[in-house]
Amino acid sequence: MTTAIYPGSFDPLTFGHLDIIERSARLFDNVIVAILTNSQKVPLFTVEERTYIMREILQPRFRNVVVDVFGGLLVDYAKQKKAQVIVRGIRAVTDYEYEFQMALMNRRLTPDIETVFMMPAENYSYLSSRLVKEIAELGGSVAGLVPEIVEKRLKQLFKKEN
Ligand code: ADP
Repeated sequence: MTTAIYPGSFDPLTFGHLDIIERSARLFDNVIVAILTNSQKVPLFTVEERTYIMREILQPRFRNVVVDVFGGLLVDYAKQKKAQVIVRGIRAVTDYEYEFQMALMNRRLTPDIETVFMMPAENYSYLSSRLVKEIAELGGSVAGLVPEIVEKRLKQLFKKEN
């Protein structure tokens, strides 16, 4: 049985993330989507909110995907979960340098865990959580970029500020 971990901030979940989760669920026996709590970025959505949204979207769709929260070193978490694979999404060349560095550092820390990179469908290759937040903050439409539950919550969050 192969267990893969897909770690990230998911602040918020986009169709790009979902695309990678769908591909991972087809490829691996078990997939753990792991929400990072010790991210240096200040999040817009709380960890609880992100967990709730992910479960709402993923539970009815995939039988072999679970959502979890983790802090500390990713490789320690992976060992604890007996995972053999770390999944990361690659959009454009700009993602490559950072991801390459992380993957090799993780390999140095734990040589028996492989990082697997996946490419999303082309129409998601320019999509990022950061861009989604910026568009929503400026009152633009994020329909077709994020699930409806995320779209609604973004509207609420930014309505308060205006
Ligand atoms: P992080 O804060 O670790 O970058 P993100 O939530 O932004 O976490 O992304 C988690 C993972 O999903 C990363 O591997 C990132 O490259 C990937 N990812 C994010 N958006 C997309 C997308 N549109 N298509 C494919 N992969 C994506």
